[in-house]
Formats: sequence, structure tokens, C-alpha cells
Amino acid sequence: VQWVYNFGAGAADGRAEMKNLLGGKGANLAEMASIGLPVPPGFTLTTEVCTRFYEDKCTYPTELKGQVAKALARVEERSGQKFGDATNPLLLSVRSGARASMPGMMDTVLNLGLNDWTVAALAKRSGDRRFAYDSYRRFVQMYSDVVLGIELSHFEKLLERAKQRRGVKQDHELVAEDLEKLVMDYKARVHVEIGMDFPEDPHEQLWGAVGAVFNSWMNQRAKTYRQLHDIPESWGTAVNVQAMVFGNMGSDCATGVAFTRNPSNGANDFYGEFLVNAQGEDVVAGIRTPQELTIKARKSHGSDLPSLEEVMPNIFRELCTMRQQLETHYKDMQDIEFTIQQNKLYMLQTRTGKRTAHAALQIAVDMANEGLISKSQALMRLKPELIDQLLHPTLDPKAKKQVIAKGLPASPGAAAGKVVFSADEAVRRAKDGEKVLLVRIETSPDDIHGLHAAEGVLTTRGGMTSHAAVVARGMGRPCVAGAGAVQVDYAAARLSVGSVTVQEGQILTIDGVTGEVILGEVPTVPPQLSGAFGIIMAKEFGAQGIGLVRTEHMFFDGGRIIAMRRMILAADEADRKVALEELLTMQREDITELFRIMDGRPVTVRLLDPPLHEFIPHTEAEMAQVAKAAGVPLNRVRRRAAELQEANPMLGHRGCRLAITYPEICEMQARAIFEAAAAVGKAGGAVPVAEVMVPLVATLQELSILKEVVEKTAAAVQKEQGMNFTYRVGTMIELPRACLQAGKLAEQAEFFSFGTNDLTQTTYGLSRDDAGAFLPEYKAKGIVEQDPFVSLDQEGVGELIKVAVERGRTARDGMKMGICGEHGGDPASIEFCNKVGLDYVSCSPFRVPVARLAAAQAAL
Ligand code: PEP
Ligand code: MG
Repeated sequence: VQWVYNFGAGAADGRAEMKNLLGGKGANLAEMASIGLPVPPGFTLTTEVCTRFYEDKCTYPTELKGQVAKALARVEERSGQKFGDATNPLLLSVRSGARASMPGMMDTVLNLGLNDWTVAALAKRSGDRRFAYDSYRRFVQMYSDVVLGIELSHFEKLLERAKQRRGVKQDHELVAEDLEKLVMDYKARVHVEIGMDFPEDPHEQLWGAVGAVFNSWMNQRAKTYRQLHDIPESWGTAVNVQAMVFGNMGSDCATGVAFTRNPSNGANDFYGEFLVNAQGEDVVAGIRTPQELTIKARKSHGSDLPSLEEVMPNIFRELCTMRQQLETHYKDMQDIEFTIQQNKLYMLQTRTGKRTAHAALQIAVDMANEGLISKSQALMRLKPELIDQLLHPTLDPKAKKQVIAKGLPASPGAAAGKVVFSADEAVRRAKDGEKVLLVRIETSPDDIHGLHAAEGVLTTRGGMTSHAAVVARGMGRPCVAGAGAVQVDYAAARLSVGSVTVQEGQILTIDGVTGEVILGEVPTVPPQLSGAFGIIMAKEFGAQGIGLVRTEHMFFDGGRIIAMRRMILAADEADRKVALEELLTMQREDITELFRIMDGRPVTVRLLDPPLHEFIPHTEAEMAQVAKAAGVPLNRVRRRAAELQEANPMLGHRGCRLAITYPEICEMQARAIFEAAAAVGKAGGAVPVAEVMVPLVATLQELSILKEVVEKTAAAVQKEQGMNFTYRVGTMIELPRACLQAGKLAEQAEFFSFGTNDLTQTTYGLSRDDAGAFLPEYKAKGIVEQDPFVSLDQEGVGELIKVAVERGRTARDGMKMGICGEHGGDPASIEFCNKVGLDYVSCSPFRVPVARLAAAQAAL
């Protein structure tokens, strides 16, 4: 087995595609070396060494020692230096490098190979004793910390003492003698702490560092980071051992980072920073002000420090050539690190550069125009999720953040606000101009006003199609759902995660794209496209119609829920008719407005599908409200509410079952729809082809009964209004039985719409409201790859859809079919829908642009 891969001097064993084996850093070092870029020579111990290391109780495969020795000899040959040599010593860096970037989570050792002999040689060759002893003392400190596990504070104290002795404040004011003495002090301390001498043997140092990097894969920081970023533990890290080059050997040295294009706006400008006479960490640490690469950037930033183009014009030109070479080779914008040692340029890293959504768009378009990539490549490169960034505020990528928990990314966008635990409190504070974040265990229609008033919503229970998630998406509010690690104590008005406690009024930030819950306020950057959204915007975004009008959602608002409750709790038909009359007026108004806006485009209105528990009043105050509105005794309302309680409301008296029991509800809704169509027509607008959709159908009889009610109502309205209009009656397919019976249903149904939220729930036997609590564990254990409520389960639910499409179209040729579950906004699911021949997808307004892009990609 090859455990070690070499790179350097225009050749490499590895390639960029081998990230799984070599890690991101190792794979790209190999790639750069093989295309002839000046990469300091080195070798990579593969991620398989890491996985074996953990399988075999922290021991290495037997062949490893020999392979490392050979690779080291190659590095010596390529660099012309010798490891541990007293005249021309090779020094090494040892760094981690996993498949996915895990910045700062694992360990690194630099300047490895220094000891009392090699340091003298380094001093002589560089002509700079101070530099040599500074490198040495940094090495002893880093190695002691990372490999020997000695507290850094010991070394910090000794450094402080050295500065006091010299009477200076800054590290760089210490002279060579001070540093030499400091190294001796450091080593004495090491002996005290571990009862052994600091290892002088470079080979012992090397194996110590390699072991420390592999061990750091399992440190707490790395574990937490992996959990938060869904990185499997089984991946392991690679270790990169590479010849050191120094950017801090004098004024002909420098180090820097750059993007081959501007990562914030995508402009085709070389964009980066560097520091003369410095090491990489100095650029990141932000102690000194870095200088710009180009004259253009220096001028536009009004900096008075000279640019690289001015300080080292030859090197700058070389770097520009490499920039070109990298982009032509990788065909994408790159993020690079480089070092200049005594006027010679070295490339230390390259990777695909992170960029804003705006830049991603610009770069894709530019690269297509430049002929670097094809138009379809450009289109495919735009992750549909990126569009979300254009529509919602996002976290400032430069900001520091303390993530305390992670939930499901239920509705995109970032939001920060003072934590409140009730909808009423949210409204109260919002009225006073405060920004609030509503935190609930779960939400119900009673919380709508709170969701509306809040900047965003966090729930500790519930999945991607739970009430909070669906409603927040519809309103364009960021939402993190089902963050199970968060404990909410309503009575004490506080929440806690582990040892962190957050009181009402303290600030939290949520990121609805990653699901992160963050302590304090993280600055956000505004969306690139802003303005009034909602249905009108969906149309602006290019929606071709409305695939699902959830009529029950029209009753969430304010006083309307009382009318709805009155209807549900009505003791008899007469009572119900009074409440329905009130609802009819509201429905007609709303639907008229929809038809008018959509201007002749198809609008599919679904008959009521209230999961009853979302509408039954729970508190005494709510029941009293209903009793008052209905003019009935409170006791009666109480009794009726108790009667309607269900053990499994999601499988209960909902969907068409409600209209089967109370056909007058169906009749009222059909009337509202048809009267609205007539009203729009009479006002001179385009008369819509109303589509009436029956939810949660399992049998043909259910559909036949309700279709007849709709048809009768249509005939009545046409007669009353003295006008004819076309309409269609169709059904949702959201139960496995309906999929299997699709052939029969198609005899009556004029269209199908797949309700994949319920279809997933019923096929998987997974509750939409509760699955969020344990699905993350299923994902972590690799049982499911994706939350099936987010990305369609193609093997199971998808098979049922295929069956239904086929049986439905066999019975009714060319039948219109679409999907209206939340999957309609998910790119992978959209691709599947295209494949099985659905005609359209439907999703919340804010996801329309994402869906349109995904649909275009699916069609390619
Ligand atoms: C569905 O079940 O997929 C659906 C669209 O209906 P709802 O989410 O309203 O139950
Ligand atoms: Mg449904």
C-alpha cells in the first residue's frame, strides 16, 4: 500500500482529484507541483494512515516508517539540504489537511528540525542570528505545546521576563542573545514539566509532530467542528510534511495571500495582501497592516504603503503569470498563499476561493464570456442555494461567531434579536422598536403574530415541514427549527445549551442557511435584491402560476382565527353555517386578489386541510373568545374542544375527511373560488382557470363525493352570475394508497399534485412534526444521507411517485401533474421531478428563483 505521496520539482504522485486520500491541501500541492509551479518539496501521509491509526489503537502501518524515510530522502535531494545537517539543514513544516477545510481546528508544527547544531547553521546561512534563534524559540514553544502538551502560559511568562530584562515592550525588540537565552529557559522549563529533555533528534521530532497531528483529529475542537459542519469522523486527516521556506529572513522576503479575482464583487482583479519580512501567521494575526498587491488596489484603498507591484516588480510579474496559469488550469477562481524567500517566489497553497453570491454570479458569467468555461458549465456552477443569499440578509463572513447549537436550516436568511419566548412578548417589544427573535419549543397558528413581529424564529422541536418552518418560509422569515440541544424554560423565561444560559432580552443570532444558533449579535450583510416580497415578488421572480394556495393559512391572521375556530367547534350544522358565512366573505376577497394579481395564470386552490390541533383553542382565554363570538356558553366550547382532541392529529380528521363529514365547508370554499373568478372577470381582468384541489385523498369515493359538491356549486354560481367559466377539479396525491390507486383517481381527477410532505410522512412512517429531534443522528450515523423532508427520498417516496405518474397518465392521457410539497424548492428533488415527467414544481415565493435555476439545470 502506498501510504506516502511525494510532490515537488515539477512532479507529484498525487492529483487534485485525490482529495479523499490526500486531503484538500495535499491534493492541491501535488497538482501545483505537477503543473510546474514552484512548490517547496514535500510529501503527504494519506488519510488512510489516519483511519488505520485509529483502528489499530494509535499505531502506524508497518511499511510507513520505510516509506517516510524514502520520501524524506527525496525532499533532501530536491531541496539540496539535509535533515539534521550541521551545515545546510533541511527544516520542515508539519500540517494537517482534511478532505474538507477545518480552519484552525487541528495542529501544526513549523521550523521542525531545529536543535542546538542546526540553529547555528541556519544563523550562518541566513546571515541573521536573530532570525535563527527567533525561529528556534518559536519552534520549541510550538512543539512543546502541540506535541508535549505543556501549557503555553509557561513560555509566555518566560518571554515576558526576557523583555523585562532587556527593558523592552515588543517581541521584535529582543536581540539574538536574548532569544538564545530564552531557548535555554524554555528547555529548562520543559524538563521541569515532563521530566525529560526537549528532543534534539530531528527524526524523533518529526514522528512526534506527525503523531500530534493525527491525534488532533480527535481533539474536542475538531470533534465539535465536525458535528457542526456534518463532516464524518471516518474521513480522517492527511498530514503534509514540507520543506520550510521563510518569508521572514530579511527585507527581500515576504508572505501573502491572494484571490485570483475579487471574492466580494467578482471583478476580474488580482486581489490580495502581503507583508514584507513576515511569516504567514503575521498576516492572519492582524498586528501589522498588510500591503496591497497592485497599484490599482493601493490607490483605490487610499493606502500609503507601497504595493508588491512597486516593491518587488519582478516577483509581482511572476505571481501574475501564476495567477493566469492557475485559473486556466483549475478553471475557477483560486485562493492562494505564497511566500517570497530571498527574492524567490514559492506557492504554498491553492484552493477554490470562497465568494459571495454576487461574486459567484459575476465570475461564472465572466468566465463563460472569456471562453474559460462553457455557458452550461457557468449555469451548473451556480448553486441554487446561492440565490438565497441574494434574497436574504446573510451573516458577514468576516465576523467572529460563537455557535452554541445547530438545528435544521428551515428558512433561509440570518436574523439577530433579543430573545423572547412568547408571541405576545414579541409583538409588545417589536412595537417599541426592538428587534426580537422568537424562541418556542414549537409554534402553532396562535403564534403567527409573533412570527410576523420577530426578525426570525428558533424552535427546539419540529422538522423541515413543521408548522414554524412552513409558515416562516412563506413569510420570508429566517428560521432554525428543531434545535434539540436548546432547552427552553418558559416559566423562567430563559433557554440553555449545556452550560450557556440565555435570558429573555439577551441577543441571539440564527442562520437559516446553516442552521446555526449563535451567541450575541453577528453583523449581517443586506440582501442584494431587496424590496417587498410575497406573492407579487414570486411573480416578479418568474413564477408561472400558484401551485398551492393553502386556504387554512388564510385564517391564521388576527381575528380570522376566531371565525375559523367557531366553524370548527360548531355544535350543529346551523351553527356552522353562520361561521361559514363569515369565512366565505374573507375567502372570496383573498382569492379575488390572488386571481387579479396572477392575471390569468393558473392558480390551484386547495380545500381546507387544517390539521385540527393547529386550530383548536387551548387556553381558557382563547375558548372564552370563541364562546363570546359565537354567543354560546363557555362550557359548550370547552366540551367541544375536548371532543375534538385527537391522539394523532396528523393522521386524523383533516384534509378531505373534514369536508366529507361537513360538505358545507367544501361548498362554501367552492363558492368563494367561483365567485372570485366571476368578480375578476366582471372587473375586466383575465378570467382565471380555477383549479380546485382536494387534499389527503385515499379513495376514489372521497374524491367523487367532493367533486360532485364542487360541480353543483359551480353550476349554481354560473347561473347566479350569468357567466360561464372553466375550472378543473383535481386531487393531491399524498398518501401511499393514492399513489397505488392513481389509475382510478385519474378517472375523476383532472390533475394531480404530489403533496410530498405528507407522502414522505406516511411512506416513511415518520412524523413531520417530531422527526427533527432524531433525524440529525440518523444523518450522522449515515442511515439517511439527507433529511427526507428536505430532499425527496427517491428510492422510496420517489418510487411511489413514479407508479402514480404512470398509472395516472395511462388512465388520462397528458394529465397535468406537479409537486407542491416543500421538496418543490429543493434542487435535487426538482431534478428528480423533471426526470419522472412532472409538468411543474411549486414552492414558497422566496424559493422561486432557486427553483427556476434548478429547473433550468435539470433541463440541461
Ligand atoms: C404536502 O403534504 O406535501 C402538502 C403540500 O401539504 P401540507 O404541507 O399543507 O400538508
Ligand atoms: Mg399535505
